[in-house]
Formats: sequence, C-alpha cells, structure tokens
Amino acid sequence: EALVDAEEARDKIEVILKSIGDGLIVADLNNRVVLMNLLAEKLAGVSLNEAISRPIQTLFAHREFYDQVASVLAGKEGASEVEWVIMNHHFAQPRSIQAHTALVQGQGGRITGTVTLLRDVTRERELDRMKNEFISTAAHELRTPLAVVMGFAEILLNQEEYGVNDPALQKEYLSTIYEKSKRLEGIIEDLLDLSRIQAGLLISLTKAPFDICQLLEQVAAEFQQRTDNHTLELTLPEELVELSADRNKLEQVLENLISNAVKFSPPGSVIKVVGRVTEDCFQLSVTDEGIGMTPEQVKQVFDKFYRVDASSTAPEGLGLGLSIVKHIIEAHGGEILIESEYGKGTTVTFTLPLWAGK
Ligand code: ATP
Ligand code: MG
Repeated sequence: EALVDAEEARDKIEVILKSIGDGLIVADLNNRVVLMNLLAEKLAGVSLNEAISRPIQTLFAHREFYDQVASVLAGKEGASEVEWVIMNHHFAQPRSIQAHTALVQGQGGRITGTVTLLRDVTRERELDRMKNEFISTAAHELRTPLAVVMGFAEILLNQEEYGVNDPALQKEYLSTIYEKSKRLEGIIEDLLDLSRIQAGLLISLTKAPFDICQLLEQVAAEFQQRTDNHTLELTLPEELVELSADRNKLEQVLENLISNAVKFSPPGSVIKVVGRVTEDCFQLSVTDEGIGMTPEQVKQVFDKFYRVDASSTAPEGLGLGLSIVKHIIEAHGGEILIESEYGKGTTVTFTLPLWAGK
C-alpha cells in the first residue's frame, strides 16, 4: 500500500511538473541537476537523462545564470532574476529567457537545493521593442504636420514681412493648415482608440441604419480628389444595402484600408473597391497592385505598432490602423481577412451583418 501511495504521489508531481508552462530545473546543494521538466530540456537542448547529476552551469553558456543560482544558495539577497537569449535547434527564432531561482526547503526547513523557473519572455521583449519604436514614430508623425501648421501660421501672422498679400495665396495656406490639423486630429484619435483598446474596453459604437454604398461613394470620391496617381475603381451592388452600424467608425475603416492601398502601391496603379451582398452579409474588398507581403508579415499586420518597414524612408504611419480596423469590424459582429502576395498586391476583405430590422 505504501508503495502504491508513493507511486501515486510521484505520478501526481510529474503531472504537475509537465503542466507548468515554464521551464523548471531543480538542483542539489552541489549545484548538480536533479530534475528538469520538458520545457527546460528543450531550452537547454539536452534531455534530463543526459543532464542528471551534471553541474547546472553546463546547461547554459550564460555565466550570470550560474552566479544567480550560486548566490541564492549562499543566502545572498540581491538580483534574483537574470535574462539572456538562447538559440538551439528546437526553436526557429532566438528566445529571450528570464530565470528566477529560489531555495528548496525540505522537512524541518532544511535546505536541499534550488529550483529555477525559466520563463520565455520573447513576446514581451518584442512588444517592448515595438512600443519604444512606436513612441519615436508617434512623436515624429505629430511633429511633421505640426511644423507645417506653425510655419504657415507664422507667415500669415507676419504677412507684410513675408510679402503675402494675395488673398488666393492666403487661402491656400489656410487650407494647408486645415488639412494638416485634420491629420493631427486623426493621429490623436488613433492614439485614443489604442488606449481604449489597451484598457480592455470595446470601442464604443453609435449604431444607426444607413446606406453603406453612399458612404463608399463619398469616401472614394474624397480619395480620388486627393490622389492623381492612383485610379480608384468602385464596384457596388445595384440594390440598396443598409447596415446598422457606426457610420464614423466605418468611415475610419475605409479611410485606413484605402490609404494603405495607396501608400503601398506604385503611382499609376489601380485600386479596386468591390462591395457585394452575400446572404445576410455585406462584403467589401479593397485590392491593390502594390508591394504585397509575405505570409509571415500578413500574420502580424493586425498587431498594434506593427509595420513591415519601420525605417525612416518608410511611408508615414503609426502601425495602428489595421489593429483598430479589426477591433471596429469585430465590435460590429463582422470579420476581416487579408490575402497578400509579396511583390504582387494585397486584398483586404471584411464582412458586416446586414440590417435586418425595419
Ligand atoms: P497607420 O494606419 O497607423 O497610419 P500603417 O498604415 O503603417 O499606419 P497599418 O494600417 O496597421 O499601419 O498597417 C500595418 C502595416 O501593414 C503597414 O505598415 C504595412 O507594412 C502593412 N500593410 C498594410 N496594408 C498593406 C497593403 N495594402 N499592402 C502592403 N502592405 C500593407
Ligand atoms: Mg494604415
């Protein structure tokens, strides 16, 4: 009976160890490996059988890890976590690992060794990096239109000095100021949407029934006015298509999808915007003949801050548009999908439920 009990207890512990999402290494008082779970074996790139009784410092070529274990064992306070990057055949990409070590106390408080938890923090580090990049991009995106607004405002304030008495010219300057202020407003609205999404709040919708085709025609006409370089081809169903949705938010969706198509496709190319009615949904797709994306890049486009090209020569943008678009579409009970071929072009398609009630 005692034997069965002991076996059961061991099984239980094994199951618990396996279910831990972190890597776990137990070492004895001489820093020799006693136990490792599956993830720890993967991270270290050795099996428990190979590692057992070996000194713990042979697991990772990272001195601070060993120093941490040694200082915890020596009862020293201080840095109780270290971080480093590992790369082995189990992983396609380098992983950032954070290690926490604590003492293992047996019965009567007797110290029998150490236990180290290895947490994979790759995703957090990647997010940190994108956030830092985002802050500098956001500052830059705000500064560019602001510089234009300030410059033209200064000219208009000192008309004599600058010799601009021509009312037509003054009007042109004012409309530039207006346009750039609108751009600033758009950026600030994106930032506010982002902070609402971060806080876990749904984007608040003000729904009312309206004709989506009319909105599409309006947005397309506005775009066509702004760009001479691209041809926008709009195909819409004959019938009236009514949605119960937030008109302003959908306008924001269309603005971003069309502006992406314009930004990432060469001058002279065609952008097709096609609306269809399928059963109880309205489906819209925006297709460009632009630079396209690889499957890996497509996977990340809905992540906030993500931009394929974040260099200083990249087209303007914060990398927020598509993540906000996805939230808006999903808040309406719809779906969004991206198909893209690198070097060929991209199609973004969303569906929204039709308005059923009268
Ligand atoms: P923002 O929309 O916040 O001004 P952005 O346009 O860079 O900035 P998103 O709209 O979220 O951000 O798009 C994210 C990234 O996805 C873009 O930076 C671009 O690299 C890629 N992308 C989006 N749409 C297309 C497209 N039609 N063709 C090629 N790449 C695209
Ligand atoms: Mg965009």
